[in-house]
Amino acid sequence: MRVVFIGPPGVGKGTQAQRLAARHGVVKISTGDVLREAVRQGTPLGVRAKAFMDAGALVPDDVVVGMLAERLQAGDTQKGYLLDGFPRTIVQAEALERLMAGRGEQLDRVVAFGADPEVIVERLSGRRSCPGCGKVYHTRFDPSPRANACGACGEALMQRQDDREDTIRKRLLVYNEETTPLLAFYRNRGLLAQIDGTASIDEVADQVEKVLRAPESV
Ligand code: AMP
Repeated sequence: MRVVFIGPPGVGKGTQAQRLAARHGVVKISTGDVLREAVRQGTPLGVRAKAFMDAGALVPDDVVVGMLAERLQAGDTQKGYLLDGFPRTIVQAEALERLMAGRGEQLDRVVAFGADPEVIVERLSGRRSCPGCGKVYHTRFDPSPRANACGACGEALMQRQDDREDTIRKRLLVYNEETTPLLAFYRNRGLLAQIDGTASIDEVADQVEKVLRAPESV
C-alpha cells in the first residue's frame, strides 16, 4: 500500500496516518516529524528548516524532496508507506512521481482531508504539550488537571511556536495557496478521494478505510 495524506494543519491526518499505518503494517513517513527531529538535534538541516517552520512557511522544496528521497531508501519502505504531509507543492508531487517511477512503484490513493478553517484554528491554538513526557493536552477539549502544568509529570506545559494563532492562520494561507493545487493534480490522475476531517476519529478512520477499499468512490 502506497498512500498520500493531504490536508490542512490540524485536520487530524497525523492521528489517522498513525492508525492506518499500524493497521496495515506499513511505515508512516511524516516530513513534519522528520524536520522537528532535525531541529531538536540541531543538525544543519534542522537549523535551516527552523526559521521556515516557526514562521508557518514551507521548507524549500529541494530540502524536503532530498530528505524524503533519503528516507524512502530505508528498508522499512519495502512493504509500502503512507506519506503524511508530503507532497505539499506541485514541485514536490512531480518529484515524488519521479522517485516512485525510479523504484518501479505507483501511488494507490491520495486521501484529502477537509475541515472548516475556524475549527482548525480552535483545535490548534488550544494545543499544549509537555516538554518532559510529551503528553499533549487541549485547553478546552482535553485540559490538564493541573492548569498549566502536566497532569502526568508536573512540568510546565508549552505551546508550539507554530500553534500560535497568527502562525496557524499563516499555515492555512500557505496550505490554500501551495497545497490545494494538488487536489486537481491528483484528481486528474484518478487517485483523489476527499473526506470530511471534522467527524470523530473513529468515523474518519472508517471513511479512510472505505475509500482505500473502493478506488472508484472519488
Ligand atoms: P506538519 O507537522 O506536517 O504540519 O509540518 C510542520 C512544518 O514542517 C510545516 O509547517 C512546514 O514548515 C514543514 N514541512 C513539513 N512537511 C513539509 C513539506 N512537505 N514541504 C515543506 N515544508 C514542510
